[in-house]
Amino acid sequence: MSTLPIIQHLIDGQLVNGGSRSQDVFNPATGQAEKRLLLADKLTVEQAIASAHAAYPAWRATPPLKRARVMSKLKVLLEENADAICALVTAEHGKVLGDALGELQRGIENVEYASYAPELLKGEHSKNVGGGVDSWSEFQALGVTAGITPFNFPVMVPLWMWPMAVACGNTFILKPSERDPSSALLVAELALQAGLPPGVLNVVNGDKEAVDTLLADKRVQAISFVGSTPIAEYIYATGCANGKRVQALGGAKNHAVVMPDADVPNAVSALMGAAYGSCGERCMAIPLVVAIGDATADAVVAGLKVEIAKMKVGPGTDASNDMGPLVTKQHFEKVKGYVDQGVAEGATLVVDGRNVQVPGHEAGYFLGACLFDHVKVGMKIYQEEIFGPVLGVMRVNTLQEAMDLIDAHEYGNGTCIFTRDGEAARYFTDHILVGMVGVNVPLPVPVAYHSFGGWKRSLFGDLSAYGPDAVRFYTKRKTITQRWPSAGVREGSVFSFPSTR
Ligand code: NAD
Repeated sequence: MSTLPIIQHLIDGQLVNGGSRSQDVFNPATGQAEKRLLLADKLTVEQAIASAHAAYPAWRATPPLKRARVMSKLKVLLEENADAICALVTAEHGKVLGDALGELQRGIENVEYASYAPELLKGEHSKNVGGGVDSWSEFQALGVTAGITPFNFPVMVPLWMWPMAVACGNTFILKPSERDPSSALLVAELALQAGLPPGVLNVVNGDKEAVDTLLADKRVQAISFVGSTPIAEYIYATGCANGKRVQALGGAKNHAVVMPDADVPNAVSALMGAAYGSCGERCMAIPLVVAIGDATADAVVAGLKVEIAKMKVGPGTDASNDMGPLVTKQHFEKVKGYVDQGVAEGATLVVDGRNVQVPGHEAGYFLGACLFDHVKVGMKIYQEEIFGPVLGVMRVNTLQEAMDLIDAHEYGNGTCIFTRDGEAARYFTDHILVGMVGVNVPLPVPVAYHSFGGWKRSLFGDLSAYGPDAVRFYTKRKTITQRWPSAGVREGSVFSFPSTR
């Protein structure tokens, strides 16, 4: 029997047990199991759904401004508890504390945006669309909604989803990643403190069994998913087949184009953070550089080599470190395997981070920054998402060649171009088949009042995450047409289609 602290579920405002299965949660910097996570079974998830279902009528009827005030209070509580939340992120995910704070701030901005829901829900009104007829569209809540989130942004991605869902009048069930679930659970407890009624937000910890229960249950009206593409595709297909509204954001392989006229030292600085920040475990990370011309490629590779040599790898709790460990031992082995594969495929390994040593943390999942040159389209390290600190440089001759290979890639999440040529940048942003594009901005992650979504196999569904699209995703349009005939005036039947003809 494990003596580790137990991570429970939050159902109907209470921390509860549920499910007979459990698994360890590791600290990736030490390789030690530090907590034990309960994995919800079907019954436990159904209790959460029942709680959300029961809480819905009263929450839907709560004036939007009162719902929004809970978000305003939550924003303050998140700021006050930032250190505790980020400590949990670093202890379970591994990312350095400064990076966790950045993630939390982006999450808080989504809470802030959700507090504007009364304004965003105002709807559309037209007076006198026909003689004495008025018409308006309103955006009504869906009911019970759910979200399934990945390990790499354990606090931010849940905040992309449930604050706007509940601010729009829905109730919500969150299933966080089983690898680092504690920060999302703490945030949900803070939401209760902020005044969210029990049952409006439930958190179930678990794996496929929990997810499949959410996908099958008729009471769940909509599902938001963020994670890898194979699972995103499964969630989208199964959820849609079960009559739900689904948005499923998947994996990525983001290319950065460096033009011959780019400010190379600044591009190199930007690429360092984008490639190796958070150990490359970001869906907007840059794992590929496409350099136009050999001279550009040589300059970029030389610059990266110098900067990588200055990087400090170690536990995320030490503020002087630039990069923490990978999230799990399995993921560490997988990423290391891709580096082996790249060498076998014939790419040039310019910097090999496979043997990095972190004294005192020998059992941690640390991999140093790796840099490949001469990466080619046919290679596995080009085609597949590695999700680790591995950057590959490709060499092409023209911008069009770079754009053709980006467009041919399976994923279309993010991309960027480094240049001083406005015409080239404009052509790139206009034509590239990618959802989020940066010009001299390596991580073009939209702010909370825009929406986040990739193209191609990086997003299944029609609406992006957070921002204005989230208001549409978590509501249904209803259009009402109304007239008040004069009392006592007898009206005849009209058989032609009503129009203003
Ligand atoms: P993952 O797909 O393994 O897991 C995501 C969620 O799905 C977790 O909650 C997990 O419990 C659940 N899940 C896993 N296997 C399942 C199965 N067989 N059936 C049902 N549910 C299952 O993803 P991850 O490793 O946690 O996260 C990394 C991935 O997420 C990367 O591919 C990354 O690109 C992607 N990601 C995408 C975005 C985006 O906005 N597009 C953002 C962050 C992360």
